[in-house]
Amino acid sequence: MAYAVKEIFYSLQGEGAHAGRPAIFCRFTGCNLWSGHEKHRADAVCQFCDTDFVGTDGDGGGSFKNAVDLAKAVVSYWPDSITDVIHPYVICTGGEPLLQLDKDLIEAFHNEGAEVAIETNGTLPVPEGVDWVCVSPKSGSTVVVEEGDEIKLVYPQVGHQPSDFVHLNFEHFFLQPMFDEDENEHVKATIEYCLTHPRWSLSLQSHKLLGLQ
Ligand code: SF4
Repeated sequence: MAYAVKEIFYSLQGEGAHAGRPAIFCRFTGCNLWSGHEKHRADAVCQFCDTDFVGTDGDGGGSFKNAVDLAKAVVSYWPDSITDVIHPYVICTGGEPLLQLDKDLIEAFHNEGAEVAIETNGTLPVPEGVDWVCVSPKSGSTVVVEEGDEIKLVYPQVGHQPSDFVHLNFEHFFLQPMFDEDENEHVKATIEYCLTHPRWSLSLQSHKLLGLQ
């Protein structure tokens, strides 16, 4: 299978349980909840996306003709100096990575010595072998991934309440304030929700606060 990738970059994970951890990000092209084109935003299922996942023109992006080529390209971003010390940590994101991430690619990443994480909207099944599953539900969609490592809910969202997900089989439950013109109010509301519902913890988009990619 061929793979379309918007961009590949090395940075720090900004959110959730692995916040601060060095990681290679593989941003796949395309999403099943929005075309990525502004002219379709009003009709999109997911209304608050701020990610460019259209095309293959970002740094390191392109069309990769098979899983091995893509895995090697991604892992090449891990600094040589630390390869012998700690294995590469690869975060498959998007767009929606589960439109493309398959068993062949997971195996190819593992053969390169990498640990494989995904950040998914949870509407598509997760193939076997993924090492870290992070689900971020989007209002208007149906979540089918009911177990994993962390659930990261942007808050508040009309139609998706934290209580809709708290029974699911995840180890970590994070609320992340909605990033828009009312962000300060959303931060306060998120803190208040966590304080009164301590199953949930606050997650901040620290990469944005720090100006990281
Ligand atoms: S599901 Fe994620 S990638 Fe897709 S439109 Fe929503 S925020 Fe963007």
